[in-house]
Amino acid sequence: MNKSDAERLSGMLDYLGYEQTDVPKQADLLIIVTCSIRKLSEDKAYSAIGVWGKWKKTRPNLKIVFCGCVAQQQKEDLFKRAHYVDMVLGTHRLYEFPELLKRVNAGERVCSCDEVVYPEKDFPINKAKGYGAWIPIMEGCNNFCTYCIVPYTRGRERSRDSEAIIKEVKSALKDGYKEITLLGQNVDSYNSNGMNLSALLREINSIEGQFRIRFVTSYPTDITDELINTVIELDKVCEYFHIPMQSGDDYILKRMNRRYDVKTYKAICDKLREKVKDVTITSDFIAGFPGETEEQFQHTIDAMRDLELDYSNTAAYSPRPETVAGKWTDLFLSEEVKYDRLNRLNDCVKECCLASNKKFVGKEMEILVESFEKAKGTINAKTIITGRTRNNKIVHVPCDRDLSGEFLNVKITGAKTWYLLGELI
Ligand code: SAH
Ligand code: SF4
Repeated sequence: MNKSDAERLSGMLDYLGYEQTDVPKQADLLIIVTCSIRKLSEDKAYSAIGVWGKWKKTRPNLKIVFCGCVAQQQKEDLFKRAHYVDMVLGTHRLYEFPELLKRVNAGERVCSCDEVVYPEKDFPINKAKGYGAWIPIMEGCNNFCTYCIVPYTRGRERSRDSEAIIKEVKSALKDGYKEITLLGQNVDSYNSNGMNLSALLREINSIEGQFRIRFVTSYPTDITDELINTVIELDKVCEYFHIPMQSGDDYILKRMNRRYDVKTYKAICDKLREKVKDVTITSDFIAGFPGETEEQFQHTIDAMRDLELDYSNTAAYSPRPETVAGKWTDLFLSEEVKYDRLNRLNDCVKECCLASNKKFVGKEMEILVESFEKAKGTINAKTIITGRTRNNKIVHVPCDRDLSGEFLNVKITGAKTWYLLGELI
């Protein structure tokens, strides 16, 4: 979501006649799009602007803009902490940026974090180079999981108008992007003018041309039969589901305010594996949630193995003071315990990922080639192409030509922990 915000801000700057520099120290304007999902990301943002503040001492005309989730939380208070910041721009006000920048350039210091959503405007978007375009379809969240700050920083759930989304997809395809990822905190809750995610996928699938469609993130219980059947039916929609489980223990799931138990989550995975050929299911897990016992943590390890999850993102629980669980200070676990559990969780992710990769050896799979580079490690070739399968596996294939941007069928010849090896057919 932050990447997408940054691409939009960069588009607005182009529109305003700014040019990007590779030397931040010489820039006239520096912008940071911040994340507050964990304390570490917040700390990184503060240390970045600390450096910029020092540069400003010798270059007083430098303008500094602070946006994203930390901005939304801090609002005017940010000026107390960092008096050298010129603009604090909240997550609901992105499209107000050009107007606010004019005021900043006229010498004002501005903060705009009003939670009334500022209307979307038709500025150009500077999408990152490559073949994958990330397109937000909804924002915010109503779920209030007890550990999570998103509902406080991105506000209530709201879906983008489907026409604006289709227009953005068409424009990305025209610019040569070959993989469209629809993005949102809970994409399955998409609902605009009676159109749900399945209907939106249908619309996008009907656009002409060879390209792929993905969507992230899915809330487990929002994966309906209609959505599964839509994925099976539509040729461009990939066989890939990212469904964060967070914990493999029923009591912890309740404490997290997740609305499913392990049995329900397993039933969803079973259904997907039964119905969708070659589907991969990836997840997110938190290690060391307040009050988590060793036994409850073991249930998470067991779940990851039993469910044969193909890959999982992991994180040590990071207290966010604004949230419900962030106030359960008497239940917090020590850093040592949290990071020990995180390490064991990561070992299990590696094990599951390798087991998952091995299942595909010998198969023929379609890849979208993303790069061409010198071969490294044990691959016996001078150069390789690297691509992604429909189910989101990375494949390295010895090849002497740059085939970036092409769809190719390859034969999978080997499996490593994080990638597959293949050969051209
Ligand atoms: N909407 C998605 C998740 C979005 S947040 C869902 O409901 O599953 C992305 C991930 O960040 C979460 O899945 C969670 O694993 C992690 N996360 C969120 N808050 C966290 C916290 N306080 N500490 C550690 N990890 C956290
Ligand atoms: Fe955060 Fe996802 Fe829960 Fe919403 S559903 S509160 S974004 S973890």
